[in-house]
Order: sequence, then structure tokens, then C-alpha cells
Amino acid sequence: KLQLNDIRNWLELSNQLMQENRSYLIELDQAIGDSDHGINMARGFQEVITKTQDQNYQSPSDLLKDVAMTLMSKVGGAAGPLYGTAFLKLSMAWKDKNEIQVNDIKEGLQAGLDGIKQRGKATTGEKTMIDVWDPVVQLFKDDENVAPSTIEETAKRAMNDTKELKATKGRASYFKEKSIGHIDPGSASSYYIFSALATSIK
Ligand code: ADP
Ligand code: MG
Ligand code: MG
Repeated sequence: KLQLNDIRNWLELSNQLMQENRSYLIELDQAIGDSDHGINMARGFQEVITKTQDQNYQSPSDLLKDVAMTLMSKVGGAAGPLYGTAFLKLSMAWKDKNEIQVNDIKEGLQAGLDGIKQRGKATTGEKTMIDVWDPVVQLFKDDENVAPSTIEETAKRAMNDTKELKATKGRASYFKEKSIGHIDPGSASSYYIFSALATSIK
């Protein structure tokens, strides 16, 4: 389960991973994009921490709403509105809940995934962050007692599997066949978010 402090920890760990892997995300986006994904994510998550750290929130939902707004306005690019939408859906799914149970996590992530798909007009197999969100959501559906290590492994494998895909959405789609052989940058940042989540679930 997740309580307010666990969600703060999730955000803190996500931010750490974005800062540590800033150059790596830039490198990934250099191959099939415009080299800014690491800059965008590191800036956005730093803002999330700066904005939320000294505020008192009544509930996880209130905190996540602020997170969503910050990501939308500070990440920029394609990823900003998409991550913003995902966190807004989490905030809505967990409204009036102080303890987020495994079932709520499943429903929240499903809502987040649906939001990303809708906002980006994209689906599974197009070499985007969706290709990491989808298998993670599926995992929660398949196994009510999913182990944190399994969440981390599933997200990591899904990120690596984007290598073989051809991009048909976003900037990477301009590279057509040449997008094959590279990990999708947004899949990598989503992997960090799920890795941080796995560590934060109690
Ligand atoms: P930009 O491409 O505008 O520079 P970023 O580099 O920050 O934005 O983010 C690129 C990432 O966004 C991609 O690697 C991909 O995972 C994700 N992305 C791009 N377009 C879409 C879309 N339509 N649906 C889902 N994810 C997308
Ligand atoms: Mg980019
Ligand atoms: Mg850009």
C-alpha cells in the first residue's frame, strides 16, 4: 500500500533517478529525437520536489494534483503533458483515499495509462512510454500480490524491449526504420518512475 509519505518518497526517488540519469536520457533522445528528454525530466522532477516539499497536503490526491500541474508546465515537450495527464488521473482515481491499496494502485495506473493513450493518440507497440506502462498495468491485473522486484524487472524488460520496435508516434517516428535498435527515451524515464514506485510500496 501507499500513504502520503510513501508517495513523497516515490517522488523523491523518481527525482533522484532523473538527476542521476539525466545524461543517459539525453543520449537516448539524441539517437531518435532532439536530445532534450533528460533536460526536460530532470528539470520537471526537480520542480516537483521544490514545489511540494514544504507544503502540507490533506491527502495523496492533493499532492498528486500539484505534481501533475508541475509536470505539465515544467517538463515541456511531448512528455510533459503526457506525464501530467498520467499523474492527474492518479490524483482523480485516489480521491478521498488516505491509504492506497494494491487494488487502488492497479486502478490508478490503468487510468494513467488510458490518459496517456488518449492524450497522445497512441497505443501499444508504437515505441513510446506506453510500452512500459502497459505491461506494468497488466502485471497488477494478473497478480494481486505482485512483488516490488517483479514490478521493477517488468518495467526494465519492457524498456529494453522498445529497442526492437519501430516508432510511429512522436519525434522518433521521423526516423522511421532507423528508430529500430534504440531504447525509447520516454520508456526509460517511465522505467525510473516504476522502479521508484516499486521501492516505495509498503
Ligand atoms: P519531445 O519529443 O517533444 O522532445 P521528450 O523528448 O521530452 O519530448 O519526450 C519524448 C518521449 O515522449 C518519447 O520517447 C515517447 O516515449 C514519448 N512520446 C512522444 N509522443 C508520444 C505519444 N504520442 N504518445 C505517448 N508517448 C509519446
Ligand atoms: Mg525530445
Ligand atoms: Mg523537444
